Formats: sequence, structure tokens, C-alpha cells
Amino acid sequence: MDYSREILERFQTISSQGRMAHAYLFIGPAFSGKSTTVNAIARMLNCEQPGGQFFCGQCASCRKIESGNHPDIYRLETGLGETIKIEDIRAFIQRCTLRSFEAKWKVFTITNAERLTKEAANALLKTLEEPHKQTLIFLTTSVAELCLDTIKSRCHAIHFFPMSLRRLTQMMIDNYSLDEVSAQSLAFFADGSYQRAKNLHESKFHLQKNKMIDEMVMRRSSDEFIRKTLSDKEHTKTLLDVLLSFFRDMALLKSGVDESFLANRDRVRDLKSLSNGFTFDHVMKIVDEIINAMRLFKDNLNVKMSMSVIKELVWVK
Ligand SMILES: [Zn+2]
Repeated sequence: MDYSREILERFQTISSQGRMAHAYLFIGPAFSGKSTTVNAIARMLNCEQPGGQFFCGQCASCRKIESGNHPDIYRLETGLGETIKIEDIRAFIQRCTLRSFEAKWKVFTITNAERLTKEAANALLKTLEEPHKQTLIFLTTSVAELCLDTIKSRCHAIHFFPMSLRRLTQMMIDNYSLDEVSAQSLAFFADGSYQRAKNLHESKFHLQKNKMIDEMVMRRSSDEFIRKTLSDKEHTKTLLDVLLSFFRDMALLKSGVDESFLANRDRVRDLKSLSNGFTFDHVMKIVDEIINAMRLFKDNLNVKMSMSVIKELVWVK
């Protein structure tokens, strides 16, 4: 179950009391259940045979919404590194104004609301203030600080919290019979999201992670590997996450932290042997440069130069 039961309960109460707001902003880390919760709310409000706790899950409406095939439930999504442009928002508003085909409540979502351009955000303001009858608008974001104030002030904010590392590690052990080291590593990279931990496990993330560590840190052989990785946005992001986790672990080890707190506990031997060759300051220099690259990446700028700096710092010996 990936949606937030707590938030569904809140919506159950406010809808039964007729206190529903027009527009909500769901704030929480990636994969903390924001979109699945919107989907569950849409099912709850439109279920044809309310039974179960929130919805029946069996009726035509429930099934169409769950599979993403309901004409009145719409989600505007953007790819990694793309902005949401005014044309996208005009089309979105156009859809909002259409009469409902079959739903009691139309539910419209804009994911990654921090990617709205200023023009797009301005075009949306009126719709957020005066929505159409029986229409709910949800905006979701993992970085509320980057959302425009004009948008935030017109939405009712609801926060999603990541699960604790310990709890998520235990869930991965229980549900996938993983050993503790692997489960904890997935939990670290999943940022407290069970859904994300599950995806990482199923896509054999540990193989990708360890290959990245081997190529970038251990083997020191592979300009070709870097070139190939940087040609793909998802891979670039993963590489930066993996490198940051690895050198943060190294800094933690150097400061005497117990190895049970490391994200890369499966690589503890490599971490230890490598860290002998680096001073603490040098490790922090690497960490700073990785964070710098992450900023560039987030602003959609080229990280090639920054990656060369990281490489030289890592391969210094
Ligand atoms: Zn139903």
C-alpha cells in the first residue's frame, strides 16, 4: 500500500463536512506517495459502491482511475530537467473547463510544480483561485522552496514525510528476505520511500551502484564510462548520488562513526583501504565538488567540467 492512509482519512473527513479546498500542494520527497495518494483520493471521491475503508477497488470508476484511464482524472507530467511551459498550462486549463464525462469529482494534477515557468504559473493563478465546479487541483513538489510564492499562497499545503531509515530497512528485510546490509543500502538510496526502495531492489540497483563505484573510484580507468554516463540524465543523477554516498561514508568513517551507519556497508573494505590514502580535508573537497555538480545538474547545466574535477580529486594518487 503506497498511498498515505493518514492523508486519505483527512480527505474523507473534510469531504464529508463539505470543507474541501480547491487546490492542494503536496510537498514531500520523491516517491513519498504524493501521486499515489492523489490517485487514491480520486478513487475515494468517485467510488460507485463505497464500501471498504476508502473505496471498493472493484467498480468501473475505481478500476479506470487506478489504471490511469479515467477521462476526468488527468495528470500533467514533465520529464527530468524540463520546465512546464505556458502552452502546457493553457492546455491543462482547457481540460479543467470541460464538463465532467462521468466523474463526480474531476481530479487534475500537476507534478513537479517547481518546474512551472513564471509565465505558466501566472496563467494558472486564476484557475487556482476560482476552480470549476466539482474539480480538485493538486500540485506536487519535492522542493517547495523552488515553487513560486504566488502558487504556494493559493494552495492548501500538505506535507508528506519519509519513513525512518530503520523502519524502511526492516520492511525490505521482511518483504524481500534481504540481508540487513543490502536492505539498509536500498533504504538509504530510497530517501525513506518504500516504493522507491522496491523499485531500486527490482531494478537491481546494487549492481549499477557497485559498477559505478568500481569504474569511478576503484578502477580509475574509464573516461569512456564517464562520457557514456553523462550522455544520459538519469544515469548522471544516479552517478552523482552514488559518488556522494560513497565519499560521505568515507568522511563518516574518518570521523570514527560506526560502520553500521554507512550507506555503502557492502563496500566497507574498499572504503577503509581507500580512505587511508586521503586526508579528511581531501575527502570533504571531493564531497563539495560532488555537491557543486549536483547544483549544476539541477539547473540543467553541463556537469562535464565538474566531473573532471571530481575525477582528478579521486584519482589524485
Ligand atoms: Zn469503487
